[in-house]
Amino acid sequence: MIQLTTAAKLDNAINKARTVKPRIAINKFGSYTVTNKATGATYTVTCEKRDGKRFASCTCVAAERDKACYHVAAAVSAHMQLAAERAALNF
Ligand SMILES: [Zn+2]
Repeated sequence: MIQLTTAAKLDNAINKARTVKPRIAINKFGSYTVTNKATGATYTVTCEKRDGKRFASCTCVAAERDKACYHVAAAVSAHMQLAAERAALNF
């Protein structure tokens, strides 16, 4: 479980996500399947808010060691876009 505080913490992961360009499928709001198109490996990323703090978790080995992986970076960007769209519709 990674706490998402500042974007700076995710910088390296965001850069890697931009290079790898994984495919992101939305399972439901807050749950995403990230696929590395080159290797076919898939990971599930969960984004959630608890007590006003944002957390993300991923099923890969790096995330198990509390490292911000590019799967989380990619899914968080999709999640934020989805959240913004939901907020915009919620008038
Ligand atoms: Zn991961």
